[in-house]
Amino acid sequence: MNSKYEPVIGLEVHAQLLTDSKAFCSCSTKFGNEPNSNTCPVCLGHPGVLPVLNKKVVEFTMLMGLATNCRVNKSSIFARKNYFYPDLPKGYQISQYEEPLCEDGVLRITKSDGTSKEIRIKRIHMEEDAGKSIHDMDADTLIDVNRCGVPLIEIVSEPDLRSAEDAYLYLNKIRQILLYLGICDGNMEEGSLRCDANISVRLKNSKELGVKTEIKNMNSFRNVEKAINFEIERQIDILEDGGKIIQQTLLWNADNETAYPMRSKEEAHDYRYFPDPDLIPVLINQEWKNLILSSLPELPDEKRKRFLTEYGLPEYDCEILTQTKAIADYFERVANTTKDFKSASNWVMVDVMKILNERKISIADFSLAPEYLGEMINLINDGTISSKIAKEIFPIILESNKKPSDIIKEKNLVQLSDESEIQKIIEAVIANNKEQFEELAAGKEKIFGFFVGQVMKETKGKANPKLVNDLLRKRISK
Ligand SMILES: [Zn+2]
Repeated sequence: MNSKYEPVIGLEVHAQLLTDSKAFCSCSTKFGNEPNSNTCPVCLGHPGVLPVLNKKVVEFTMLMGLATNCRVNKSSIFARKNYFYPDLPKGYQISQYEEPLCEDGVLRITKSDGTSKEIRIKRIHMEEDAGKSIHDMDADTLIDVNRCGVPLIEIVSEPDLRSAEDAYLYLNKIRQILLYLGICDGNMEEGSLRCDANISVRLKNSKELGVKTEIKNMNSFRNVEKAINFEIERQIDILEDGGKIIQQTLLWNADNETAYPMRSKEEAHDYRYFPDPDLIPVLINQEWKNLILSSLPELPDEKRKRFLTEYGLPEYDCEILTQTKAIADYFERVANTTKDFKSASNWVMVDVMKILNERKISIADFSLAPEYLGEMINLINDGTISSKIAKEIFPIILESNKKPSDIIKEKNLVQLSDESEIQKIIEAVIANNKEQFEELAAGKEKIFGFFVGQVMKETKGKANPKLVNDLLRKRISK
């Protein structure tokens, strides 16, 4: 990137709320139902019907506002955002314009170099989704309005992001908090989390903002990064050639990694926003706010800090283990069983996560009880099994979901820690490898590992490796 310039980026994130029913009617929000079946006169916008606000939508929005340090306004109102589109039968979308529910929040992101910075959140407001136009199932365009009226929140950041990495980290933090709160499933590929970026560039040290463009249709974290970098480069190239940036909306095409102009950008006044006369203001009293505040769970940052002090784990471990609440909960159950926190962390971060990645499953679908993993760590620590055996039986425990101690008994895998027995095996190995042993005794240290390996092989990996090492050393110095 040309270092003369500084990108200025703001994100608008749309998150679909996990309510059972729609925002203003009792229709189901269930995904995948027969097209146009989750509908009623209200969400189809028939004349004369009245919307009734779903209380859960307000509560979920308040939760997100409080979790991102926003002010929850005592009064907020709904507005009609008017535009024509075939998948919007009402001809307007119910949203909030003036007086949104939450304003002036802040989020902290931590960069890969360890520095962190604050990103201000301008507002979080409630709105309803539009329907869906389907262009690729038939020669004609098909319309499915099941999604009409499904509740969304829009989280608007201030233009505090300065790179695609900032945007990625910010979006990831938003997603993480939504998942911790359990108010959105955070699935970008399925569209329950969507993100648009406003991008401009300016000369470094300039205070003025450049002309911005909006880029839409980035349906994965990778695409957000790619699209933003693409647009930054495009704008810099235009400016370097002496051209001017046109304010417009661009659509990201992930297939050829290019953005195309969609339409010249509407100004807010094109939507003719006006207060929705069918909906009364949403009033939040202190009592309601306190109730929501008290239901706020421990958030990612708090949990990470607690893991640092309570378990004494490295910063890196705490970051990984608190990525999702479910992983954090799993770790804590392992840690509570074994009390060997670092081993618990290693097993969860390495062995458990490897299987989750391989099988593309979440920890909720991981069959091994955390208590069994804790028990296995205890069996290593008290010398019953070697860590080598532990790695071998881990998949067996996983498949059978039996107690590790039962499997060890069943398979006769208890670690061999009987000195005289190991001594006997060492002698046998030496007898079979006389020349090598003479070299070892003469100081050829490289062969030491070979002898340990031979003893382990003879005992099918069951010999206590520390004991094998000690006894072999003694035998050499004889
Ligand atoms: Zn409905």
